[in-house]
Amino acid sequence: YHAKESGASVTFFHSDMLEKAQQRFNIEQDLGYALELNQLSLVYQPICKGENVLHFESLLRWQHPEIGAISPMTFIPIAEDTNQIHIIGRWVLAQVCQLLGYWQAQSNDFNYPGITVNVSAKQLVSPAFISFVETLIKQNNITPYKLGLEITESTLMEDEQASAQALQSLRKAGVRLYLDDFGTGYSSLSLLGEYVFDVIKIDRHFITNVTDSDKSSTKLCAAMIQLARTLEMDVVAEGVETEEQLEWLTHQGDVSIQGYLKSRPLPVEDLIHWHPACKMPKRLEGRHETPKV
Ligand code: C2E
Ligand code: MG
Ligand code: MG
Ligand code: MG
Repeated sequence: YHAKESGASVTFFHSDMLEKAQQRFNIEQDLGYALELNQLSLVYQPICKGENVLHFESLLRWQHPEIGAISPMTFIPIAEDTNQIHIIGRWVLAQVCQLLGYWQAQSNDFNYPGITVNVSAKQLVSPAFISFVETLIKQNNITPYKLGLEITESTLMEDEQASAQALQSLRKAGVRLYLDDFGTGYSSLSLLGEYVFDVIKIDRHFITNVTDSDKSSTKLCAAMIQLARTLEMDVVAEGVETEEQLEWLTHQGDVSIQGYLKSRPLPVEDLIHWHPACKMPKRLEGRHETPKV
């Protein structure tokens, strides 16, 4: 007697699933052409000390012709599953290194901001990754520590031994290593002991409530900043949105600030407003100006 009702809900369930699968399939396929068709771009978010920018974090953007903007939270996991992350990740690294090389060639001092790149687990442990990074650094004549690599805890858990080895090699190459989304993984503390990171980035979920002194997340956040200081690591607070959060963080000591309060992620042409060395190159190579389909 409920046949009609349940029938309807089953139908709905199936078409919903189908739609999701279909959507995913299209995204997967379309992502394969996104680079060639010039749909991917990078934006850069300032990481600040006081009024000055220390670094920018590079963040991927995908402008899909029909769907519009698709979040990296959606398409990066798909790119990881399908191995497209290798091509996309290499493109990101190449873009960033070219930009750094340009800034370095243009500036009289070495005081210009560095840039960080997010690195997926699969990229980090792929055999060619280290030599690719080293080649880019050489080719673009970059001071290695201007390039930062952001690695999340979950990335390291996927293949601990290979990750540890890759991180050692990257250290030797002289790039700055950032532990991203700190505090959200399973074994944050042991990771700090085993690997040598230069910087920890405290996840924004800890920052949201820091003005509420009763919250355990606030106490944890204070403790994480202390811990970083003890281990002589730099700290970045992610997702700082309010003056109150900024004030609390400043009170904790030497913390770099990233978040909408300072700036949203910006297109490359706007970076000059943050530092005179951050000029936009006339053309970045490998930008796929002409689509070759
Ligand atoms: P993430 O590395 O933790 O990057 C920080 C995210 O927080 C960015 O989201 C940034 O736009 C956002 N954000 C910055 N300030 C604020 C704030 O004040 N409030 C709030 N609510 N959010 C803020 P986005 O750009 O959507 O990127 C999401 C994630 O996608 C990144 O998280 C990163 O894990 C991944 N991703 C982005 N670009 C790349 C890439 O080139 N390669 C790889 N492998 N992953 C990437
Ligand atoms: Mg990051
Ligand atoms: Mg993060
Ligand atoms: Mg995050």
